[in-house]
Amino acid sequence: MRDCCLITGASRGIGKTIAITLAQDYGLHILINYASNEAAALETVAEIEANGGTAELLQFKVQDYEETTTAIDSWIKSHPEDQIKVLVNNAGVTKDNLLVFMEKDDFNNVIDINLRGTYNVTKAVINHMVRKRYGRIVNVASLAGVKGVPGQTNYSASKGGMIAFTKSLAQEVAKRKITVNAVAPGFISTDMTKDLPEDELKKLIPMNRFGTPEEVAGTVSFLVSEKAAYITGEVININGGIS
Ligand code: NAP
Repeated sequence: MRDCCLITGASRGIGKTIAITLAQDYGLHILINYASNEAAALETVAEIEANGGTAELLQFKVQDYEETTTAIDSWIKSHPEDQIKVLVNNAGVTKDNLLVFMEKDDFNNVIDINLRGTYNVTKAVINHMVRKRYGRIVNVASLAGVKGVPGQTNYSASKGGMIAFTKSLAQEVAKRKITVNAVAPGFISTDMTKDLPEDELKKLIPMNRFGTPEEVAGTVSFLVSEKAAYITGEVININGGIS
């Protein structure tokens, strides 16, 4: 039996670093989900294998309920000996604009991927965890979902929704030894933030710098550990001191 971990959006950025970290810290077999960038996803697998770990690809677009359910269900059925002990809902996108200029599709697409995606993936995994009476779920929310950020009504709503989802689900499944927590990163250096005016934004951060994917992955690793067994329904800010 292998202990496994499904991470959505693990081809790049924060998800990739979480995948490498959890493989290294716990020897978990990692299921690398991605939307379209197969080359980058294979690179994540290669880095995990280079460190002595194991991983495989599991492509689906999280906003597509049928595609997500089919991919996860068939993986579970074809691996009866394996157990998905950890789920990290990390896949996410931004499409920023002031609300006065925001088109309906840009609002809906961000909600579909970030929030409905979290529902779709968690729904496909939760019965498996309930049956096994064990699970760790970590949702990658955002500072935007805690505080709100101008130009990000769509993204902030999606991430605020993920936080509320986290708190509700935590109470539903606590008796089954499944914990459900969220992390709320501030500005982290990845593809998502590479076009932002870093020098200007740094002035808003008490630590005066963007965070690294490793700093998010370290907190996720703690939440997955046995040391965090009594923590559930929590949101941990990782933002360099923005309050
Ligand atoms: P990123 O570098 O842009 O990577 C996004 C990842 O999500 C990629 O692996 C991408 O796959 C995947 N993805 C996108 N749409 C998807 C879909 N529909 N289905 C499945 N996978 C999908 O982003 P990041 O900065 O690492 O962000 C990761 C998470 O952290 C997101 O939820 C984001 O909102 C959150 N976050 C980021 C920051 C930050 O400052 N960077 C701050 C707070 C929260 P492909 O490679 O196939 O496109």
